[in-house]
Amino acid sequence: MNTLKEMDTIPALKPITAAWITGLLNKPDDLSGLLEKWGSPVNIHHTASFEQNYEEYRQVFEELDLDHLVFFARKANKCKGFVTKAKKMGIGVDTASLEELAQCLEAGIAPEKLVVTAAVKNRELIKLALHNRVLVIVDNEDEAHQIQAMAEELGSYAKIGIRISGFFYEGEKLYSRFGFDIEEVEGFLRNRVGEGKSLSRLQYSGLHFHLNGYSTDQRSVALIQSMELAKRLQAHHFSTQFIDIGGGFLMNYLESREQWLKFQEELRAAVSLKRPPITFGNDGLGFSLIDGKIQGGLNTYSFWNDTCKSGFLKKILSYSLPDGTDIASMAKQLNIQIRMEPGRSLLDQAGITVSRVAFRKKDSRGDWLIGLEMNMTQLYSSSADFLLDPYVINKETLSDAEAVGVYFTGAYCLERDIVLKRKISLPQLPAIGDLVVFINTAGYMMHFFESNAHLFPLAVNLFVKEETFGSPLTDFEED
Ligand SMILES: *Cc1c(COP(=O)(O)O)cnc(C)c1O
Repeated sequence: MNTLKEMDTIPALKPITAAWITGLLNKPDDLSGLLEKWGSPVNIHHTASFEQNYEEYRQVFEELDLDHLVFFARKANKCKGFVTKAKKMGIGVDTASLEELAQCLEAGIAPEKLVVTAAVKNRELIKLALHNRVLVIVDNEDEAHQIQAMAEELGSYAKIGIRISGFFYEGEKLYSRFGFDIEEVEGFLRNRVGEGKSLSRLQYSGLHFHLNGYSTDQRSVALIQSMELAKRLQAHHFSTQFIDIGGGFLMNYLESREQWLKFQEELRAAVSLKRPPITFGNDGLGFSLIDGKIQGGLNTYSFWNDTCKSGFLKKILSYSLPDGTDIASMAKQLNIQIRMEPGRSLLDQAGITVSRVAFRKKDSRGDWLIGLEMNMTQLYSSSADFLLDPYVINKETLSDAEAVGVYFTGAYCLERDIVLKRKISLPQLPAIGDLVVFINTAGYMMHFFESNAHLFPLAVNLFVKEETFGSPLTDFEED
């Protein structure tokens, strides 16, 4: 058999692992106890990491002496625990639905620290926002009229920002299905918004954008074009108090760039049939073999990044125009507050998912399948796959163990319920009851797409109680 040789070449992708996680990995009995109590899988969260991530952003703004407000994009994680933490930290929360907004208000977050950016805003959401004087980001004219109608009904006014898109970048317009085209905003505000006009109850206060993708240059250029628009609006007495640059701040999941490059090289080789598969069914994750040639690109998040979080923000804000003026000076000169709405990156190292092994079997291709007490929606990426090696905690370490490559499979009765599409190399075959720990899953991964098909209950979400971190079981509270 060539298995050992093959095992050696299954590329690893070792995740950056915060100290609190390593601490838990070293307490396998406590972790097993949690799963006995709460079922499998459980999601465990840690708000101190969330706070640290915010601190990084805050420092960048402080260094540049910029007026700023950071909103946590709530949609990246459903737990209330981060809302409570955001309140304690005095940061804002970006809400994208009625329920998200209602929870934040109930948690006592000040209305001026909230924003509604929901893609679809129903009457109830608009009503709640207006009633509490929460800023609403307007996406289109129909929405503006619905807000006007609700304000009339309530006898109130609506504090609004305008979402814009269609920025010019390298000679072309950046497409987005969201927002007003930047070229239409001036006319819209001048002709429609304000006293004596059809949208008399809308009070303009700022501009907002959220770009798809992860380009800092595009964000810089969009911010400059927004500031230029703000200047033109000022001439017509529309005062821009803030520009919100949205989210999409890259983070880094991996320890090694070499591993990241090696993985892609091996994946291309596997898809070209030059080596044994390293993904389930030789899934190319975006690469495919057409007419003997490898086509396409990796269709996943870029799990390795050198410019991330605060470095990413710094790069956006330190962009200079050909005449030497930079973004930070422009914003200060215009007296504009810079806002941002990071979701994923504020949750860096803030959560893990722990699951239990139910069975092992060999499939007809000869691959080991490790059945987990969880399903694919409990670790589901909006891109092709989540590419980090999990940690496996073996109850018993075997002295005569052989390395093995495995696929983790889930509990839904679907062929496609493969929890990770990557083949994972392990020092020994996991046993029933062993734990599999997925790192850094708090941002989008653990429950953004979670469903309860088969009536499986949703995973329980626990938070590490910061003040008592260190003693068993009582360390955690349910969200
Ligand atoms: C999704 C979203 C965010 C957060 O994006 P991240 O990639 O999680 O940082 C912020 N603002 C808006 C409007 C969004 O749609």
